[in-house]
Amino acid sequence: MSTPLQPALASLLSYLKDIGYSDVYLSRAAAQNPLSPALSPVPVERGPEASPELASIKAAAEACTRCRLAQGRQKVVFGSGNTAADLMLIGEAPGAEEDKQGLPFVGAAGELLTKIIQAMDMRREDVYIANVLKCRPPGNRDPQPDEIAACRSFLERQIELIQPKVIVALGRIAAQALLGTDSPIGQMRGQWYRIQGIPAMVTYHPAALLRNQGLKRPTWEDMQQVRDRLRELRA
Ligand code: URA
Repeated sequence: MSTPLQPALASLLSYLKDIGYSDVYLSRAAAQNPLSPALSPVPVERGPEASPELASIKAAAEACTRCRLAQGRQKVVFGSGNTAADLMLIGEAPGAEEDKQGLPFVGAAGELLTKIIQAMDMRREDVYIANVLKCRPPGNRDPQPDEIAACRSFLERQIELIQPKVIVALGRIAAQALLGTDSPIGQMRGQWYRIQGIPAMVTYHPAALLRNQGLKRPTWEDMQQVRDRLRELRA
């Protein structure tokens, strides 16, 4: 007898289909009980909606004129999500839509990122999302080293205050900036590092997945490692 799919399972199956899996076989137990250990959500402790210290750093970022990007921005994109999150995702820099809304990952790449988070059995509001740069580089060009250096202390304080259990660096720019390396993304992805003492995974940027469908599967493998590490840390 078939049972209705739980929303989390439906989202996972839709993401797996999207990344090219055509057949998914569930054990009888998993199929009958979508909340069996193999499919159960990563439990989330809700954090305070706002941390006063983060709010004061956000205010400082909003007034920041340390680099040239201050002149062209519409909004500073400080970060969003659960300020007591176990998982912190760090991208490169705001794009046009983020600059308009003042929120990270709200364009097409953000939609895909939300799908990936849901496929990990988490909700977007359970995680914290930020970027290496808080202001949009003109025409979405790569961040320059002096811009990354000028912005670094904001991200470092965010990591210190949020104290996630796991960090994911999304894409080459974030990984190189956070790990202080110039290694290629293909070499760094799928590996564990430490950022400010916190276990950190490197994977491809969601925008790269939109350009190259073939990167979706390795990204999903990396994110499964993250999901499993979070489960281990909470066991
Ligand atoms: N790309 C990023 O790296 N960050 C965003 O917030 C949006 C797109």
